[in-house]
Amino acid sequence: MRNVKQESFWLDRLNEPLSPRPALEGSLRCDVAIMGGGYTGLWTAYGLKRIDPSLDVVICESDICGAGASGRNGGWCMGELSGVRSLLNDPRHGDGARRLQTHLFEAVDEVGQIVAREGIDCEFKKGGALKLARLPAHLPRLRAELSLLRQAGFGDDSYRFLSAEEAAERIHSRSFAGALYSAHVAALNPARLVRGLARVVERQGVRLYEQSAVRRVERRGIATDRGQIQAAHVVMATEGFTPNLKGRKRRLIPLHSMMIATEPLSDSMWDSIGLSERETIGDWRRVTVYGQRTADGRLAFGGRGIYAYGSKPRTRFEAEDPIFERVRGAMLSLIPQLESTAITHRWGGPLGVPRDGQTRVRRRNASGIAFGGGYVGEGVMGAYWIGSTLADLIMERRTYRTEADWLHKDFPLWEPEPLRWAGVTAVRRLAEYLDEAEERGRQPSPWLSRLCARFLP
Ligand SMILES: Cc1cc2nc3c(=O)[nH]c(=O)nc-3n(C[C@H](O)[C@H](O)[C@H](O)COP(=O)(O)OP(=O)(O)OC[C@H]3O[C@@H](n4cnc5c(N)ncnc54)[C@H](O)[C@@H]3O)c2cc1C
Repeated sequence: MRNVKQESFWLDRLNEPLSPRPALEGSLRCDVAIMGGGYTGLWTAYGLKRIDPSLDVVICESDICGAGASGRNGGWCMGELSGVRSLLNDPRHGDGARRLQTHLFEAVDEVGQIVAREGIDCEFKKGGALKLARLPAHLPRLRAELSLLRQAGFGDDSYRFLSAEEAAERIHSRSFAGALYSAHVAALNPARLVRGLARVVERQGVRLYEQSAVRRVERRGIATDRGQIQAAHVVMATEGFTPNLKGRKRRLIPLHSMMIATEPLSDSMWDSIGLSERETIGDWRRVTVYGQRTADGRLAFGGRGIYAYGSKPRTRFEAEDPIFERVRGAMLSLIPQLESTAITHRWGGPLGVPRDGQTRVRRRNASGIAFGGGYVGEGVMGAYWIGSTLADLIMERRTYRTEADWLHKDFPLWEPEPLRWAGVTAVRRLAEYLDEAEERGRQPSPWLSRLCARFLP
């Protein structure tokens, strides 16, 4: 029998049995019906009930809350939204994008305040992020990014260049040429956040049905195998699972990110590694890698992974899958002290990736259907932002969140298969080839680098 706890380190470590809530049976009416019990669905429900506690809100989750990406991610709660950075210096969006970016920074603290207020113990610690320049080829990319951020008006209080010596004070190694330090990043336990949020919205009066996969989305309603809901508003919050829904195959693709967790490390090991503020870590290779020092003293580390032909989202992976050894190799390239450390957990899950890498949120007045997502790897805070925006849109409130109306568009469609698979695989291989060349001390063609940067989310 399936044991969801085995599907992520974070789910495994929860002190609760993870037995499903009752499924939807029969017909009911409500004000807002939400599909998906991950961060997006739950933050939308939370926002709605904060605005109007009398609203009748129902969530239908096909599995259990947190079984999707929200219960299995890297736990970087960062002040970013996929696609916004590339618009910061675009004259068409400049001011709006910069204002949005400032709000996104603040939103990390808002998440910290809400979890404290609501009693969600998700090990939130705002220690910033270190993006390490490990190879000579990484430094120019770091400098280019910093210059873009400076041009957009963000100073040392948000992003700081750390010299080799300054970086070594945080991660005790002399092998980095420097780092970009981002202040607006917190590390947290993702499963505790999603499970805690589910309890909070239930306390607010939201009805939560689990093991209730929505099969049909209609004007003003949804249907599962055994139940139906009529609602003035329907919210689709299914992110990487969206391609499973009829007629929505090409909106987002599930790109799987893969993670490992070490055994708990001794204090002396942590003394040799550093990261005393639980700073999250990554580097400047093209195929994203990310790590966090967990509250229980392990290193959880991940890397972007695989796309399955036909946009099939996966939540189960074999521990023997060679991809985990690659993730471990990436971890050792940053922290070689972990060479003999045991890996206790291996798992993965689907990100939702839009064709243009741009997070979106939209409510259609005519049908009452709203959606939000396409976070790529930035949904831990991003879903708080988009869920809150969805609540504003549904309640027809004009707020600083709804101001960024250039996000309020449909996702551009991905190509049909086999073109989709060929394109995604080609970009992935190109990124790996370029990273590999730099690892070997070669300088790859700038033209190929630009091509890769153009398509990599
Ligand atoms: C391994 C990994 C590492 C990541 N690391 C980070 C990170 O460090 N920082 C960061 O910001 N982001 C990270 N992300 C991305 C982040 O986890 C997601 O963007 C975020 O969790 C999205 O939340 P969501 O609620 O939109 O989607 P999900 O959490 O995937 O929720 C969607 C829910 O919808 C349910 N569902 C699907 N189909 C149906 C249906 N038909 N009917 C009803 N329910 C349905 C699913 O079961 C699921 O629970 C990572 C993701 C992964 C997989």
